[in-house]
Amino acid sequence: MPRKFIVGGNFKLNGSQSSLKTLVEGLNQGNLDSNVEIVVSPPFVYLDQVRKAVRKDVAVAGQNCYSKASGAYTGEVAAEMLKDIGIEWVILGHSERREIFKETDDEIGLKVAHALKAGLKVMACIGEKLEERENNKTTEVVVRQLAAIAKHVSDWTNVVIAYEPVWAIGTGKVATPDQAQEVHKDIRAWLKEKVSAEVAEATRIMYGGSVNGGNAATLAKEEDIDGFLVGGASLKPEFVTICNAKAKM
Ligand code: PEP
Repeated sequence: MPRKFIVGGNFKLNGSQSSLKTLVEGLNQGNLDSNVEIVVSPPFVYLDQVRKAVRKDVAVAGQNCYSKASGAYTGEVAAEMLKDIGIEWVILGHSERREIFKETDDEIGLKVAHALKAGLKVMACIGEKLEERENNKTTEVVVRQLAAIAKHVSDWTNVVIAYEPVWAIGTGKVATPDQAQEVHKDIRAWLKEKVSAEVAEATRIMYGGSVNGGNAATLAKEEDIDGFLVGGASLKPEFVTICNAKAKM
């Protein structure tokens, strides 16, 4: 079975009721390729607004959730709460969570486990920093991050991996199609060796890092690139172009 192309829009800490209303209207009016799965991820407080307003063929994701269902964890949001308001997806392990909020590989593994158990689909992010790439540690780092996630996953149906080199996120410095494809291929090879050939074949691997309307179609041609996780450009009308990048080939 071919892997369905998937494009996620990570709005990060951006937006207001008014700006997201406009953004959603743009998506609702957009001519979106029906062969592509599209998921948008506004900040928590706007999830309900966006979920209610956005067209039904576009899913909505939380940008994070905790590894517990309830309790004395001030400031946290549970996967169960996301489910409760009709959210289907969550982004976990984003490099900004890892770097700024010091989330460890282990914590991310636990969050993935809990989110899946609660019935959410997970975009699990991994990726190396610039100095790690320069020291030829890219594979070592992504495999370490992936292994910490895989430890908690018995069924990969609801997991999408997002390979996001940290040096490409929000920098305008996109990985070349060759650079991205090389790592995606390594990730798939790791899944084949450590999990199974079926999981390696079926699991989608998105690329994230300065994807825009101009570079998406070229990246989408790569064999192991099954979608994009988009930050900055997901707040702009060009997000529709990115969603349709595969169709343009
Ligand atoms: C992201 O935040 O996941 C991301 C890829 O950001 P940007 O597209 O802005 O580089």
